[in-house]
Amino acid sequence: MKILRCILGDQLNEKHPWFNSVDPNVHYVFMEIKPESEYATHHIQKIVGIFAAMRAFGKRLENQGHTIYYYAINDAANQHSFEANISQLVQIYDFDSFEYMEPDEYRLDALFLDMQDRLHVPVKMVSSAHFMTSRTDVAQQFEGKKRFLMESFYRKMRKKYTILMDGDQPVSGKWNYDHENRKKIPVKHNVTPPKLFSNDLHDVFEDIKDAGLNYIGDVDASHFLWPITREQALELFQYFLDHLLPYFGMYQDAMHQFEWSLYHSRISFALNIKLVDPEEVIRRAEAHWLSNQETISLAQVEGFIRQILGWREYMRGIYWAHMPEYADLNYFEHARALPDYFWTGETKMNCISQCVKQSLRYGYAHHIQRLMVTGNFCLLAGIDPNEVDAWYLGIYVDAFEWVEITNTRGMSQFADGGIVGTKPYVSSAGYIHKMGNYCTHCNYDRKVKVGEHACPFNSLYWHFLFRNQDKLARNPRMSMMYRVWDKFSTDDQTAILEQAEQYLTQLEDL
Ligand SMILES: Cc1cc2nc3c(=O)[nH]c(=O)nc-3n(C[C@H](O)[C@H](O)[C@H](O)COP(=O)(O)OP(=O)(O)OC[C@H]3O[C@@H](n4cnc5c(N)ncnc54)[C@H](O)[C@@H]3O)c2cc1C
Ligand code: SF4
Repeated sequence: MKILRCILGDQLNEKHPWFNSVDPNVHYVFMEIKPESEYATHHIQKIVGIFAAMRAFGKRLENQGHTIYYYAINDAANQHSFEANISQLVQIYDFDSFEYMEPDEYRLDALFLDMQDRLHVPVKMVSSAHFMTSRTDVAQQFEGKKRFLMESFYRKMRKKYTILMDGDQPVSGKWNYDHENRKKIPVKHNVTPPKLFSNDLHDVFEDIKDAGLNYIGDVDASHFLWPITREQALELFQYFLDHLLPYFGMYQDAMHQFEWSLYHSRISFALNIKLVDPEEVIRRAEAHWLSNQETISLAQVEGFIRQILGWREYMRGIYWAHMPEYADLNYFEHARALPDYFWTGETKMNCISQCVKQSLRYGYAHHIQRLMVTGNFCLLAGIDPNEVDAWYLGIYVDAFEWVEITNTRGMSQFADGGIVGTKPYVSSAGYIHKMGNYCTHCNYDRKVKVGEHACPFNSLYWHFLFRNQDKLARNPRMSMMYRVWDKFSTDDQTAILEQAEQYLTQLEDL
């Protein structure tokens, strides 16, 4: 019985049971497909990184004795359609059946389901053996409930996998150290530099250019900095454990004008293409903390584990519980176009400029830059969530719809009306200044709401609250801010709203 198995670009899981043994009757296919590289305008580092990791993984399987078909982007035989390439192989080599791992994206899931009848051989979907929950676990846990609270999901996961537990209680008695994770980088603190690789991928880059793919951002293809093999992913993670974890939780929400990744792991790209799996990352972090408790406090490791065991799995569950409707949600009916400076970083708003330029340069921004700078601005300015989604899906090396859309449309834009978050993540300049030093280097004045140098975040913040009173004023987590607004004089309120209106009409010029 001859079997053809397909491996997608984000399914490079060397530990998958498929690869436990070599069977001459089982063959594998990899495909670099043009429409997959162009359904959003991706960052060049994302395309180069995925193709390079696919090619390396294909070579590795081949060296182990597996039979591989590899459709590279410029191969003449490549029809740039999953179905056409698979059908071609099934016919030429007379396969008896076709198997694939569950795709993470709804779009691909639908595409693979749709092609099944036309392949004329039995088709089987298997687990990708990566996640710690099934697609439906989150939906089942919250069945019948309006809100899907991450914290209760996270606690359940801690118990289920016995992570940071002491019997049935959290180790040291507390589940969550989030409130200890809110420190700014002190002025004289020397941030540990990030671990960067120097992969020579200029051949992959040349292929992409020859294929004429659209892309955004910069790449140094001769010194490609992201991990492209499992060994490199583990090396990056070990560097995180040894050098960054001691400060991870503490500075998790901090931002810095001259430091792009601070104490973050930068493991998301490797995780999302499955070079490493979440459980091994979590267990290694816990074990590392246990043997280094004199230098790493529980708050640091709990903060890290919560992101992966909690947020990452939870977001995937939300995605499968609410797609495809989720992709059209627009609670505030926002419709403005994304300003051009999101593609160039050319704006007088220093925080936006820094975060966008950094994203174009590295294909990376850490969570608070994504949430409280670019995302916050889009929400305050009323940008169409479709445009916001397309930007986030394109610009980050780790962006795959299942985790991008729930974070963008849900957590950041509150376009889901509160499925993911209990309130919109919005702030004026106060928060951005509290967590970083962008405001110190800005053309605008963070303390001013109205006038020539008034920081746009300030008036837009109040304008957002004012225009959405009917949707937000009764939210217990927002009511305090409405009480603050009510205390402003009518003249002040009018001036702030006029300032915001002016900024909104000149959005491109900010
Ligand atoms: C608007 C917006 C869009 C985002 N888009 C993506 C995306 O496309 N892909 C993506 O992987 N993450 C996304 N995130 C979540 C988060 O910002 C990134 O996972 C993180 O910045 C990746 O960098 P890191 O590996 O250094 O993370 P660290 O800060 O070191 O965290 C460790 C890991 O925890 C996981 N994690 C942390 N926060 C989240 C979260 N909110 N949701 C899911 N997993 C999380 C990631 O796997 C991450 O690698 C987005 C967040 C926002 C606010
Ligand atoms: S002053 Fe306003 S625009 Fe400038 S960096 Fe601070 S928050 Fe951003």
